[in-house]
Amino acid sequence: MKRSFSFVIPLILVLTASLGIAQESVNKKVVLITLDGVRWQELFSGADPLLVANTKYVSDTTDLKTRFWRDSPLERREVLFPFLWKEVSKMGQIHGNRNLGSQVDLTNKKWFSYPGYNEILSGKADDTRIDSNDKINNPNKTILEIANQDPRYKGKVAAFGSWDVFPYIVNEERSGVPVNAGFELATGNDLTSREKFLNELQPSIPSPWSTVRLDAFTHHYALEHMKKKHPELVYIAYGETDDFAHEGHYDAYLKSANTTDAFIKELWNFTQTDSFYKDNTVFIITTDHGRGTDPLKTWTGHGDKVKDAGGVWLIAFGNGIETIGEVSKNEQLYSNQIAASIAKILGLSKAYNNTQGKPLKLATE
Ligand SMILES: [Zn+2]
Repeated sequence: MKRSFSFVIPLILVLTASLGIAQESVNKKVVLITLDGVRWQELFSGADPLLVANTKYVSDTTDLKTRFWRDSPLERREVLFPFLWKEVSKMGQIHGNRNLGSQVDLTNKKWFSYPGYNEILSGKADDTRIDSNDKINNPNKTILEIANQDPRYKGKVAAFGSWDVFPYIVNEERSGVPVNAGFELATGNDLTSREKFLNELQPSIPSPWSTVRLDAFTHHYALEHMKKKHPELVYIAYGETDDFAHEGHYDAYLKSANTTDAFIKELWNFTQTDSFYKDNTVFIITTDHGRGTDPLKTWTGHGDKVKDAGGVWLIAFGNGIETIGEVSKNEQLYSNQIAASIAKILGLSKAYNNTQGKPLKLATE
């Protein structure tokens, strides 16, 4: 008895130690990205035939057609989102093609930005309290805040957004998660030369909008921060697409969507050459709401009066994510599952403690 007992203890120690090492080696990073109000229709079918030649919405239809018009929807989507369709479709999963039965929907009934971002980030709709885009600190805890409260991730979470409401959506004040959004500059006493240059450039390149900056600033501030500080969880919220759409500029909306695809490619390529992120990073990409299609003019808008504006899409790829490409079977996913999925990837499910949206089955396990 005594002899076998003394044998068992070291065995347990060895097992525990090896499990500990295994846990360390699966330490994952998450990059969450949103594209404001990009329709599933363009993601899966490219430029819309009814809009691309419509002079009401396009200033130079010849130029736009050269860039983004091709005969088949599959070619059109590939020329609009080349990274997503040539590379991500081969290494990850793309949900939300309603023509094939894959549905991703918001559970909030508002179908505009703050309620959408709240749902994505906190994992639950809150239609009573989040019913405007006003700059009100979010009463709900986001997954960013939950991560930042955990000793493993404290100080290793960051958010970047083009829209100046993000500091409130993330509740920067309470959560302690640094949010660089709107027209904020990079701060700190260790600015890189690129951050200093971005700080000079941003005030001298006027944005068309008073509350949203051009996405290139958001993108490069985020990328510089990732290179310098290596956050474990980073959220990047691109915004141009929604504003161009509201103004009815279909050409600008498409060009912006196409540029964002290139930004995502640049972020991914960076993570795969950086030893901190390489082979242990998951990208999750989605949108805060859809837009209308019928009647045609409702493509510019969204909200609860716009038919089908609650239909969205979701993309995941990276370490451990099952390669299933474009999902072509019947399924129903919801935006309130995203925060739970991030919690699961980061090992924060216990702290997340929200039973509304179940984690998505993204991994190969
Ligand atoms: Zn909008």
